[in-house]
Amino acid sequence: MTNHHLSFEFFPPKTPEGREKLRKTHSQLSKFQPEFFSVTYGAGGSTREFTRDIVFEIQNAGSSASPHLSIGGDSHESVLELLQSYKDAGINRIVTLRGDLPSGMGGAGQLVYANELVGFIREHFGDTFELLVAAYPEIHPEAESYEKDIYWLRKKFEAGASRAITQYFYNADSYFYYLDQCRKIGIEQPIIPGIMPIINYQNLIRFSDSCGADIPRWIRQRLQQYGNDTESVKAFGLEVVTNLCEKLLAGGAPGLHFYTMNQVEANAALCRNLGFSEGL
Ligand code: FAD
Repeated sequence: MTNHHLSFEFFPPKTPEGREKLRKTHSQLSKFQPEFFSVTYGAGGSTREFTRDIVFEIQNAGSSASPHLSIGGDSHESVLELLQSYKDAGINRIVTLRGDLPSGMGGAGQLVYANELVGFIREHFGDTFELLVAAYPEIHPEAESYEKDIYWLRKKFEAGASRAITQYFYNADSYFYYLDQCRKIGIEQPIIPGIMPIINYQNLIRFSDSCGADIPRWIRQRLQQYGNDTESVKAFGLEVVTNLCEKLLAGGAPGLHFYTMNQVEANAALCRNLGFSEGL
């Protein structure tokens, strides 16, 4: 039994089958009574309707849903309209991001830094939404330096964010060191570790290369060795990620945010291992 914060992240599926699967995943993971489910957003508006529809569906099913949002190449008017529709639907939390432009968009879009988006939302919607932002214990790939990256995190809090969720990582020390550095420059707000279950080796490598998350050599070696033996990959992944989460919670992390990849099994198994209670 644990009283730590718990939240789950979904991506918006584009097919009816994907949506049906997500309904089941949501229903199963609801049993752990997370504080909220968040739904990702393709910068440049590529998933605008999909994200909004899933957010409304989750909220209507009785859970708290929190959309991710970035401006990307969208007009400020369309972002304001989207935010108004969230407000009207009783959504009270936004994960506020700069995002990345999808490849192929060329110069069509312009990214807006997350601290500016936080300021923009506060300016137009006051305190309607709690704003969460992203944090990078292994440092954002485009950051000028370690110091600059945590300086910009502080700017996001100064603009009105109240909590951060981290990029995923597999090295607990990187998180604890990061927390220390953040505290030293005056960041007191909760920084919730983002946890990526290990389900599929190829996908994990692909994601990690693009977002700058480090897969420690010993984990790579082990996963490479298992190859297509998915049962062994999952069993090893569950053990490694359970240990990581235990270390994080024991070391003072406020809770956990799971990058679920819309999957039930691995996320539910982790929650059970960690003592998150399953309601009826
Ligand atoms: P920012 O905080 O704006 O930082 C981007 C970079 O610029 C950093 O290197 C920072 O050091 C620097 N910087 C920050 N502010 C300034 C400034 N004002 N001036 C100059 N430099 C600055 N991506 C998606 O496309 N959709 C999603 O739904 C999504 N969800 C995510 C959820 C979480 C919890 C996390 C951790 C990441 C998510 N991402 C998502 C990925 C994220 O959009 C990318 O990592 C993106 O490259 C950076 O977004 P950010 O909000 O962290 O950017």
